[in-house]
Amino acid sequence: MSVLVLGGAGYIGSHAVYQLIEQGYDVAVVDNLQTGHRQAVHTAARFYEGDVRDKEFLTEVFTHEDVEGVFHFCAYSLVGESVEKPLAYFNNNVQGLQSVLEVMYTFNVKHIVFSSTAAVYGEPDTIPINETDTTNPTSPYGESKLVMEKMMCWCHEAYGVNFAALRYFNVAGAHPDGVIGEDHRPETHLIPIVLEVALEQREQLTVFGDDYNTADGSCIRDYLHVVDLIDAHILAFDYLKNGGASGAFNLGSSNGYSVFEILEAARAVTGHSINASVGKRRAGDPSVLIAASDKAKNQLGWQPRFDDINEIIRHAWEWHQHHPHGYDKEEV
Ligand code: NAD
Ligand code: UDP
Repeated sequence: MSVLVLGGAGYIGSHAVYQLIEQGYDVAVVDNLQTGHRQAVHTAARFYEGDVRDKEFLTEVFTHEDVEGVFHFCAYSLVGESVEKPLAYFNNNVQGLQSVLEVMYTFNVKHIVFSSTAAVYGEPDTIPINETDTTNPTSPYGESKLVMEKMMCWCHEAYGVNFAALRYFNVAGAHPDGVIGEDHRPETHLIPIVLEVALEQREQLTVFGDDYNTADGSCIRDYLHVVDLIDAHILAFDYLKNGGASGAFNLGSSNGYSVFEILEAARAVTGHSINASVGKRRAGDPSVLIAASDKAKNQLGWQPRFDDINEIIRHAWEWHQHHPHGYDKEEV
């Protein structure tokens, strides 16, 4: 039987494919390559190019594959863009999951591990954030993910579909082998942007605000290594197969770093000075987001292996140094 990885050509999905194959799973991938890269897909995985909203296409895939469970990474996921284009976000994210759940129902596939996000919480009331805390998204992106979680809840009640909604905090790093990494276009995430400055591909980092209510005035985030994140997905899949209760799980390192602290760490790891200047706040940015990940640790048996921020940055740096233009043809 196979694990079907939807969005397996993207940053996080490609790491899932890689680690599933390393652990001996039979893997099939679906991706429309809108933001993903064909070269990121492990050669041992079967690849189907297409859109998950296309039910006919997805039905064809499920006909060819004996699917044991689905890892669902497909989404549009830029907070700012979602504010500009909410309908595009609800269309791709919500309609995408609708199609996936319908085809899973037709083929009696019972397990789905799902990419949710800390953006479902909005501005938190307390830190660290627990799964039981209020969900009040401040963007269409976060709202779409919350709707998707609720769709899975109702399908669990009605059809016995088991789900783990993994609420990621800030995902970073790359596979330690250096073969796959982060290549978003445009890049919006802090760590790859800082490394692009180190590589002289950008002039400087703009720190989005230094007037937050934090020790150095910049925002604090909880950075999690992508390999640890995927460990949690594979554990969640086993947990569901063993009858574990469906629900949401936070995934973070439980350590908070400010933007300035990330900048300093990146300067130390890369040995480059990395220019930075302070700009305006970015709309929709909460000041502090730190996960309480005890539920994932206790119920899934998850234990992050790479919770040192320097190591997370070092793995990302190795990827960026060896693939300065990402997955462009000349580099692979
Ligand atoms: P990504 O854009 O690199 O990967 C998404 C993949 O899905 C891409 O390969 C894209 O081509 C594919 N895709 C999108 N819509 C599709 C569709 N309709 N049909 C088929 N393929 C489609 O993004 P990522 O950073 O790897 O994020 C993966 C998931 O994790 C997303 O759901 C995102 O919301 C979630 N997430 C990411 C972060 C982060 O820090 N990167 C944090 C929280 C949550
Ligand atoms: N950030 C920044 N400059 C940038 C990109 C990001 O100051 O060019 C800050 C951003 O305001 C946030 C943190 O870095 O506080 C992490 O942002 P990222 O986009 O990586 O992830 P997010 O927290 O939005 O999911």
